[in-house]
Amino acid sequence: MTSLTNGDAGSLNKVPTIKFTKLFINGDFVDSLSGKTFETIDPRTGDVIARISEGDKEDIDIAVKAARHAFDNGPWPRLPGSERARILLKWAEIIEENAEELAALDAIDAGKLYHMCRNVEVPAAANTLRYYAGAADKIHGEVLKMSREFHAYTLLEPLGVVGHITPWNFPNTMFYIKVAPSLAAGCTMVLKPAEQTPLSALFSAHLAKLAGIPDGVINVVPGFGPTAGAALSSHMDVDKVSFTGSTQTGRVIMQAAAKSNLKQVSLELGGKSPLIIFDDADIDKATELALLGILYNKGEVCVASSRVFVQEGIYDEFEKKLVEKAKAWVVGDPFDPKVQQGPQVDKEQFEKVLSYIEHGKKEGATLLTGGKTVGNKGYFIEPTIFSNIREDMLIAQDEIFGPVMALKKFKTTEEAIKSANNTKYGLAAGIVTKNLDTANTVSRSIRAGTIWINCYFAFGDDVPFGGYKMSGFGKDHGLEALHKYLQVKSVVTPLYNSPW
Ligand code: NAD
Repeated sequence: MTSLTNGDAGSLNKVPTIKFTKLFINGDFVDSLSGKTFETIDPRTGDVIARISEGDKEDIDIAVKAARHAFDNGPWPRLPGSERARILLKWAEIIEENAEELAALDAIDAGKLYHMCRNVEVPAAANTLRYYAGAADKIHGEVLKMSREFHAYTLLEPLGVVGHITPWNFPNTMFYIKVAPSLAAGCTMVLKPAEQTPLSALFSAHLAKLAGIPDGVINVVPGFGPTAGAALSSHMDVDKVSFTGSTQTGRVIMQAAAKSNLKQVSLELGGKSPLIIFDDADIDKATELALLGILYNKGEVCVASSRVFVQEGIYDEFEKKLVEKAKAWVVGDPFDPKVQQGPQVDKEQFEKVLSYIEHGKKEGATLLTGGKTVGNKGYFIEPTIFSNIREDMLIAQDEIFGPVMALKKFKTTEEAIKSANNTKYGLAAGIVTKNLDTANTVSRSIRAGTIWINCYFAFGDDVPFGGYKMSGFGKDHGLEALHKYLQVKSVVTPLYNSPW
């Protein structure tokens, strides 16, 4: 049975003391100019964790000024790459020394599983810094022969001041996958974390200072989207906005960039990712993959496998096993190591997911399991699986961003490909089969930025990640992400008396 646990004594000891609640600008923690604050909420209970200084347009202006000064006059963009690398490597070590606290801040602020944060996401953040530290002293252009009369070379230069705007589902991960490549490139930045989860970004700003990142290079301004976020994306002195969040907000950000200084934009947006399971799959492994694909981080994952297509030969057995496992899934306090799923991030998200579940029922899908809330406080929802879906149903088209799977039977490979592509999104897809031809054909036929064959959620620092279609453009991870924060300058010079 899905159950609510209350955590054990050991796990509750991990609840962190909140040390940083102010804006981080030019190397100092400061109040917002207005003096306004907002609450950040513990989704396990709905209680207030802390009040956070609320950044607004004027605070963004000051932060951008600090970043601009650090870019135009400060040491960071001018340091040898090896020196930037040294500081990033030191920061990675400091993260590991503070891993419990960083993990606990995300667990309490976002309802994420503490042990996953501690053992997977925070160590991965340190490794992201290491990956880009390794690249920082290998940024170089090319020498070009050009013509008989001229030759040319290219310089890769840091883009300038970057505005990072991040969502609430992976606060630590998002912070580091944005900050690390832009720092390695030599940029300076203002980061606005999601208003639901500002705590770990502020703590990371403190760690950056300990590592030796110069003042003004990283500024962190918590606040709301339509105020602080909009000020950053429409700022005349910001050279690029790197955004992760919903497709709806991505559209607004592109408009703001177009209407202001035509700053560069990269968008990592929503998804409705398909997982296609063929008849030759190992059913036990496939059910586990399908459940993890939708329930990891309570379904609050842009690449969640929210649409699962299963071939008819194994469908019935697959469905039976899937439902059994979903019913045994443990929902509860994310600090409890036995728990597999914590609360949704906040009341708004909780209600949104429940309303999609009601839609699914009304539209005539079959509710195989779940659909209800768990416990009498906080924002817990049962793992929920619908079958007999039609592809035009809201639950098959909209990104629910919760623990809700839409399951569908298919006959042929062509039918599966058509269904998988029947979405405005194109972030990721999974394929489960032992047949190499099937895996290769389907991989090429699906319009999505990442394809996982016989695995899911397999990320790597060196593996570019980003969307097709309305899931956005511009990659995070890999050297592609580093190049997002660089620009190419061509230098041309004449050659006299060249015999060539
Ligand atoms: P959101 O778009 O509501 O908010 C994301 C960020 O944008 C927040 O910091 C928010 O304050 C800010 N924002 C909101 N309105 C703004 C505006 N008008 N101008 C500037 N900034 C504004 O998204 P969310 O609800 O925080 O996150 C969930 C969404 O993020 C989902 O759609 C999910 O798929 C997506 N996501 C995508 C990826 C990816 O890599 N593709 C990763 C994680 C989450």
